[in-house]
Amino acid sequence: MKTRYFTYILLFGFPLFGCQNRVAAQSTYQKDWTVLERENESLAFDADIKLSDAEMVLDKKLFQLRKKLLTETNQQKIPLFNSSFNEIKPLIEGSELFNIFQSMPKGGLLHSHSGGITDVKWVITAARKYKECYVYDQADNDQFIFGQLAFFEGGKVPKGFVNLNEKLNATPAFEKELTELLILKRDQLCSYTDYWIEFEKRFKRISLLLPYRPFFKEYYKKGFQDLVANKVQHLEIRFIFDELYDFQHGKYPLKTSITDLQDVVKEIQKTQPQFSLKLIYSSFKFLDPKSIDQQLETAFELKKEFPNIISGFDLVADEAAGNSINSFQENWMKLDALSKKYGVTMPLFLHAGESNSVFNKNIVDISSLNNPRIGHGLNLIYFPKTMELIKNQNKLVEVSPISNQILGYVSDLRNHPARVLLSNGVQCSINSDDPSVYGYEGLGYDFWVAFVYWELDVKALKKLVFNSINYSSLNESEKKKALPYLNNQWDDFVRKMNVKLN
Ligand SMILES: [Zn+2]
Repeated sequence: MKTRYFTYILLFGFPLFGCQNRVAAQSTYQKDWTVLERENESLAFDADIKLSDAEMVLDKKLFQLRKKLLTETNQQKIPLFNSSFNEIKPLIEGSELFNIFQSMPKGGLLHSHSGGITDVKWVITAARKYKECYVYDQADNDQFIFGQLAFFEGGKVPKGFVNLNEKLNATPAFEKELTELLILKRDQLCSYTDYWIEFEKRFKRISLLLPYRPFFKEYYKKGFQDLVANKVQHLEIRFIFDELYDFQHGKYPLKTSITDLQDVVKEIQKTQPQFSLKLIYSSFKFLDPKSIDQQLETAFELKKEFPNIISGFDLVADEAAGNSINSFQENWMKLDALSKKYGVTMPLFLHAGESNSVFNKNIVDISSLNNPRIGHGLNLIYFPKTMELIKNQNKLVEVSPISNQILGYVSDLRNHPARVLLSNGVQCSINSDDPSVYGYEGLGYDFWVAFVYWELDVKALKKLVFNSINYSSLNESEKKKALPYLNNQWDDFVRKMNVKLN
């Protein structure tokens, strides 16, 4: 009996001791767990944000609203996580959260493109008012594509183009067809595979409209007004310079785009004095280093003349088809000399890592360049040392969640790489990239998507919003005005929302 009991103790331990050990072990386990949880939180990008009591109240309310939304969509069997933006757009627009994000002050929109800003329905309505506006209504050929818009003087209309207004009057259904041709939709998560070809066709269809000077001014005025209405106080455009023209004067010098945009901004500022604009001179990754040399010279010339509006330089287009950032290293080496020659600096704002492939190493160049902000950076998470460097260098990644889904990089937005960046302390901001091409306006949709899919809280929202001014290319004295304005708007928003959501 005694031996048997001894064996039992050997096998299973003395019952009382075992119990005590378990309690002690459990409490250390729990203590470690809590410490670890705090350590994880302290590494996040928003760890420095302390919420006020009012912000904490709002945080609880938004948390409940998201919970309600998820429960309801679940009950209605709506596959929220496996739907495309286009499929859930009506659901977003009908949600209480959307109204909240529409009225939330958003600071700056740091990543947008010329030609991708203004609502396409407005583009058609405004374009048809010009009797000299035509549309190509034949099958695509080498020169023109079906649905391409352009201005022509009477008698000089190329074959295949018909007057836009006449066409729309004769065939009203064409308006819907043309709208569809100007918007890129991912109806189902697998409805097309040649994303960039379709994407670039949308730009081509309006590329001949925008350099027409009267239309140019109208287009940007409408775009700026919509952004202001959407609570965006500052805008930065990756701008592809083109010579503006009209039929009375012919072509204007490149800088006319800048002076015209400055005039439009002044007009907006009459009612919205805080509104500001910066242009990032943009060229294309598919050009060769020699052409980029010329592009850089032009960028420096323009920046020298307009140092307060031109903020830097970028190369755009599909990264899978273009040249690597590394292949332009000779160009980047000349930047210091060019800075001395022109007396201005030219920070880079390169699109880098808009890719899911580890063979695209564009992001690796960023840490060696004066490149304070990165467009997309989707594959940064696969380069841990670079991620650490970018974090330590305090560079910001401009994230555009909806664009990333529509162009096929992320399907289920819960798996967006930005979540990894945020939890690892890499600074980010929320952007819309080319909202008009994706069929929406403003920044509310992108914030909705980020909030719902990434399970953000008010602390994260606040940091993302304030990052968009803190990491903008506004100079120090401009920031000194922009930040207090944003602060006031933010506090006002929190106060009003807490009353409204009671
Ligand atoms: Zn972009």
